[in-house]
Amino acid sequence: MYSRSNVLFERAQQLIPGGVNSPVRAFKSVGGTPVFMRSAQGAHLFDVDGNRYIDYINSWGPMILGHAYEPVVKAIQEYATYSTSFGAPTELEIKIAELIVSMVPNIDMVRMVNSGTEACMSALRLARGYTGRNKFIKFEGNYHGHADAFLVSAGSGVATLEIQSVPGVTQTVAEDTLTAPYNNLPAVEQLIAAHPEQIAAIIVEPVAGNMGCIPPQPGFLEGLRQLCDANGILLVFDEVMTGFRLARGGAQELFGIRADLVTFGKIIGGGMPVGAFAGPKEIMEHIAPAGKIYQAGTLSGNPIAMIAGYTLLKTLQENPVIYQQLEEKKDYLVNGLREALGAAGIIHQINHLGSMLSVHFTEYPIIDFTAASGANNELFKRFFHAMLERGVYLPPSTFESWFISHALTRGDLDFTIAAAKAAIKAVKNS
Ligand code: PMP
Repeated sequence: MYSRSNVLFERAQQLIPGGVNSPVRAFKSVGGTPVFMRSAQGAHLFDVDGNRYIDYINSWGPMILGHAYEPVVKAIQEYATYSTSFGAPTELEIKIAELIVSMVPNIDMVRMVNSGTEACMSALRLARGYTGRNKFIKFEGNYHGHADAFLVSAGSGVATLEIQSVPGVTQTVAEDTLTAPYNNLPAVEQLIAAHPEQIAAIIVEPVAGNMGCIPPQPGFLEGLRQLCDANGILLVFDEVMTGFRLARGGAQELFGIRADLVTFGKIIGGGMPVGAFAGPKEIMEHIAPAGKIYQAGTLSGNPIAMIAGYTLLKTLQENPVIYQQLEEKKDYLVNGLREALGAAGIIHQINHLGSMLSVHFTEYPIIDFTAASGANNELFKRFFHAMLERGVYLPPSTFESWFISHALTRGDLDFTIAAAKAAIKAVKNS
């Protein structure tokens, strides 16, 4: 069933560390060989062995309207004939900036970069340069890309800051990264009290998607806003996953909470390598060449990436019904999964919001990283493979969110629910 993928993975491992260009693709936490893809259309992926899958990864978020969305493909084809890069400004960059500013609340200016990592890394530098402070707070289990400052996690606990550094991330860098459990305002208050006037920013995934899907508890984001206002700290919403997904204006619009800086990735590039950070003019004008906080990129604002992102965002802007339909699809799936797992007597939690969801096998509510880590990963592994065998491609980890695409049909959702029923039965009996 996977013979070509197996051969390719063998070859890949000789040439690419771990056989993949981004770690989670390697199926490390679920075991087995990653499936090598050949093509995709709408909600369906086709691998090199000719297997078909219904896709709940969607390139980890960007393919909100499904794969090979025709207007995006056509726009890329047309623009590729004009040149794949100029390294000089184009009108297209103004058009996409105008579009983003019109869709997202509380921002006047946007700087395009090439990934979510770059967006978060640059927003952090801006927050530090703007406030003249070095430290920042991030949450356990939130992911903001692979820049050194973000590769720090603390053990659970409020008072004790257990910074574990990734080899290569220096202790000096790690010391400026303070961590608190997600959804835990008292922990944040304590960090602020312990480091008066030293904290430049609080960066948060407004809906966490990197430890499964964990929505903010009521009052959490509001509380962060208040703490930031009271202490001269910038609130940075990392909307790399949630931007243009939860609503046209992202989490700021959905929750009605203002962020001082926002970072984007994934959907903003329509599947091309794009990220962006944005905010009010007063802060953004500190970025070079308007200001002294340096940030640059040879391929930033690349025309092919810009037209792909522009075409996708324009579709989302003009068709707000898409968000309602995404949510309906998600609800239908969640209900079906609950029924399937419930009927099999499997204890589980399904967190969901908008078009994001995740399934954890545990009786405890998943509100933070500690809770997510406590779920039954062994059962998830077996469920994952049983679903894959039945043609459903789920994220290969409990620490990832599933994404719903607009291309999913009722038939696809019913297929998935039926697969879940059969998969959980097979797993139980194995
Ligand atoms: N922030 C969040 C919330 C993310 O989910 C990710 C990627 N999964 C990133 C930042 C980093 O983005 P990229 O992989 O494009 O560098």
